[in-house]
Amino acid sequence: MKNYDLIVIGTGPGGEKAAVKAAYFGHRVAIVEKEEKFGGAEVVTGTIPSKTLKETALYFSGKYEKGLYGIDRDLRHEASVEDFMFRKNRVSQEEGDAVEENLKLHKVDIYHGVGSFEDAHTIKITSETKEEKIRGEAIILAPGSYPYHPPDIPFDGKRIHDSDTILEITRFPKSLCVVGAGVIGCEYTTIFSTMGTKVHLVNNRDKILPFLDTEVSDALVKQMDESGVSILFNTSIKEITVPKTDEEMIQISLESGEKIEVDMFLFAAGRSGNTAALHCENAGVEMGKRETILVDKTYQTNVPHIYAVGDAIGFPALASTSMDQGRVAVAHIFQTKDLDHLPSFFPYGIYTVPEVSMVGVTEDEAKEQKLDYLTGKARYSDMVRGKIMGAKGGFLKLIFEKEHQTILGVHVIGNIATEIIHFGLALVEEKKSLFDLIGTVINFPSLHELYKYAAYDGLSNLTGHKVKR
Ligand SMILES: Cc1cc2nc3c(=O)[nH]c(=O)nc-3n(C[C@H](O)[C@H](O)[C@H](O)COP(=O)(O)OP(=O)(O)OC[C@H]3O[C@@H](n4cnc5c(N)ncnc54)[C@H](O)[C@@H]3O)c2cc1C
Repeated sequence: MKNYDLIVIGTGPGGEKAAVKAAYFGHRVAIVEKEEKFGGAEVVTGTIPSKTLKETALYFSGKYEKGLYGIDRDLRHEASVEDFMFRKNRVSQEEGDAVEENLKLHKVDIYHGVGSFEDAHTIKITSETKEEKIRGEAIILAPGSYPYHPPDIPFDGKRIHDSDTILEITRFPKSLCVVGAGVIGCEYTTIFSTMGTKVHLVNNRDKILPFLDTEVSDALVKQMDESGVSILFNTSIKEITVPKTDEEMIQISLESGEKIEVDMFLFAAGRSGNTAALHCENAGVEMGKRETILVDKTYQTNVPHIYAVGDAIGFPALASTSMDQGRVAVAHIFQTKDLDHLPSFFPYGIYTVPEVSMVGVTEDEAKEQKLDYLTGKARYSDMVRGKIMGAKGGFLKLIFEKEHQTILGVHVIGNIATEIIHFGLALVEEKKSLFDLIGTVINFPSLHELYKYAAYDGLSNLTGHKVKR
């Protein structure tokens, strides 16, 4: 049996980065992947495909350019579903290949098949053609997650989808019901709506994306509304009737008594840890709710040489955080002393149309925590760069504490919000104040000016003197 310093299960962002880092530091590393394609949900079924579809929808619809240059570019009626999927397939293929190349470049041994524990140090790899066993001094589990399927939803991968099968549609939905107003549900809602599909978003709460600052989620609701999305709050699915032919509509009854008819259905509420095949019980690893693996702050399980990272350990279940969790786990196992823990602040990026991003405290949390705070806001449409781009409706909001004007939170809704947020991340992380921001020279014209004018607005809220831009 071959021996390794480290065995990693899964080539998603958590597994890839862990394996490569350990190999970089000179350790003998094996990685096990059950799928033909490398890269996990980040590359194959999640992050990159959905982000590419969003850019594709924006390109075909010409949404942001509408009316700007005197001519409208709307290519949606010319685009087939193959055209819509073309770029997604290409980027996903390229990124999957890049993951494989990266592993090979670092001389990580790649095993194809389902990995499972034989005992706490032995991994059995089962493929269609063979079964082999390898031994690891340390093991990192990064098996990811899969979409939750409630028993009463008749998933068929043709008209009734989860977030995996929606990527394989062979025709555009004329209308779509999306269940779940979390990140995945909201992103697909705006992607399909931008492509011209009538979308009904069913949400069992009174707020979409409940972790967002309420002013921002309200602004997103308003923009979705203006794009023709129908959001049904405080209700859930009672019954779905799928007709025999594609020509007939799917009938949906809601708990609120409302009924809707749609061409396709997407259930995007909840994911569970992809851990069953691992047989963690053979290694004595303790499990949590929804098939997750329990870990401490260093991603160590109750079995000292076994670590787990990424979606399989639950919140925040992001590609961005999974990568660094993998790196932190390796730092602990091999004492590389370069990355002890994940930073306490990380940004959330929601790739809806328009994008939303945030870091730090929301105004709702500031109120709950009874902080002595104020806000400052700047609108995209008031910035010269925003005017050039024809930006409407977006804004950046700073939350700062009154006494020292330290910035506690940054919230952005609008074009490339997920890029703009990183300056805010540095401000919050380094405890910068409004005056630090005001004293910073920023490219002109640029959307980062939003920060400076939000700081001036905050200052005028502090002093009571309104400052004009
Ligand atoms: C629609 C969607 C959009 C998303 N958008 C974003 C986003 O914009 N930004 C962001 O940061 N995150 C996003 N995410 C989340 C992100 O994709 C995940 O958090 C991330 O991929 C988790 O990484 P991971 O390494 O834990 O697992 P995964 O990426 O799921 O990879 C796990 C890998 O392990 C393999 N595996 C599992 N079990 C075994 C086994 N027993 N043996 C061998 N191999 C096994 C799987 O085949 C898979 O390749 C999105 C997710 C979805 C579904």
